Amino acid sequence: MDYKNIWLTILTRLEPTISRGKFLTWFANTAVLGIEGSRLTLGVPTAFARDWLQSKYALKILQAAQEQNAALTEIEFAVDTILADGNDPRTVNLAVVFGKPGDKKVRKVAGTQEVAVTSSGIRSGLLNPRYTLANFVPGEENRLAHVAALSVARTPGQTYNPLVIYGGVGLGKTHLLSAIGHEVLTNNPNKVVVYLTAEMFMNEYIASVKRAKTDEFRRRYRDADVLLVDDVQFLAEKEQTQIEFFNVFNAVHSAGKQIVVTSDRAPHQLDGLMDRLKSRLTWGLVAEVEQPQYKSRLEILKLKAREHRAIIDPRALELIAERVTVGVRALEGVLTTVLAESDLLKCPPTLARIERLLGKISDTEQKVQPVSQLKTVAPEHNPDAIVALVAGKFGVSHDEMVSPSRRRDIASARAVAMLLLRDMFQMSFSAIGAKFSRDHATVMHAIEKARNTSELALQAATLREG
Ligand code: ADP
Ligand code: MG
Repeated sequence: MDYKNIWLTILTRLEPTISRGKFLTWFANTAVLGIEGSRLTLGVPTAFARDWLQSKYALKILQAAQEQNAALTEIEFAVDTILADGNDPRTVNLAVVFGKPGDKKVRKVAGTQEVAVTSSGIRSGLLNPRYTLANFVPGEENRLAHVAALSVARTPGQTYNPLVIYGGVGLGKTHLLSAIGHEVLTNNPNKVVVYLTAEMFMNEYIASVKRAKTDEFRRRYRDADVLLVDDVQFLAEKEQTQIEFFNVFNAVHSAGKQIVVTSDRAPHQLDGLMDRLKSRLTWGLVAEVEQPQYKSRLEILKLKAREHRAIIDPRALELIAERVTVGVRALEGVLTTVLAESDLLKCPPTLARIERLLGKISDTEQKVQPVSQLKTVAPEHNPDAIVALVAGKFGVSHDEMVSPSRRRDIASARAVAMLLLRDMFQMSFSAIGAKFSRDHATVMHAIEKARNTSELALQAATLREG
């Protein structure tokens, strides 16, 4: 295989594990420049991209590369500014990586929201490529919703219409909804699948009113073969939009086209929704998704770990499945945190570390926490507090930290502080430099070195834990 094909294969593996926006940003104009023994050299267009890929994705890239070639143990990043031109023959066209059948043309619109343009010109939100039926773990808690989704996807408009999936936060409603869309398009790429949240529906409606284009708005949705509307509870109290939705619903339904709706509550409990709309929503099948049981939680974790291409002790997954009992998103959040930590420490997650992390979560009462909160468990953090904390741990003074001194302990403390400022506050290299009277390149270099020195990376991770 030539380098280009090797890189294409690796990118195809990576793509489902990275959000589309990040993937396009960081993997554009990259190329495999060479493979020598255990080392793969990856060419990147800028130093900035190199720094980012190295700190965020090096391990993932390596893992994906190892599936290709088990002998690889090292990824070297090399800046090749020619790649920045964009049409270098060594690079892979990223569109090919996403090029599954049924994918629609993607274009950017104002507000930088990515939308798909369906063949009939209707704007639809993009279906999340990770949310497929193959990636959905069925269980007692979602049996009916899952079976109904399969049935609707196979024969849209002919079985349960509308299908309403309802349940609490993070229980897989959006996942199932997108999965139906993917499945329909896989079976028949010519079908017009429109996915949007109730909020998007409202925004588009309001925009059409402003532009005096409501007729066009109405006509467009009627062209859908499958209309997927997420989080319909959003329409509560928004009367005008409800009337509009009611009309679209009737038009699509009476044309024998499929409608699937998700909601956080059962239709009859949707206060603030017009009675006639509530009643329409119960015409077909209403299926609840509930909290997953232990068995499903474990299956989901195994699946997510595979998606991350992570190597993780099965007992670690069991531990997380046992302890995190509320919501799939919370499960995923813990797993992501554990993996991020092991990535940073460059060692597999240990049961003891996971115990500690779980302990922290249950200490804070709330069992369900978004990842962003998990990641900032340590208190009162601001950049200056971090610098002071690091100085204290290393037994050097603040003045020494910001001095030109290159004494080993001082330089180490400084590098760890820089690393933490970068990772915790996403500060720019220049901003970090300003704190230590250093220039941008010096900071970048120091951080890179700290990351690659396991002793310092470990210090940083420990401090970060608070
Ligand atoms: P909701 O829309 O109900 O709030 P989502 O569909 O966004 O929840 O699901 C939250 C996360 O949990 C997603 O990453 C989704 O892939 C995952 N998830 C939920 N249920 C399942 C399941 N049964 N199998 C696999 N992943 C699931
Ligand atoms: Mg959702």
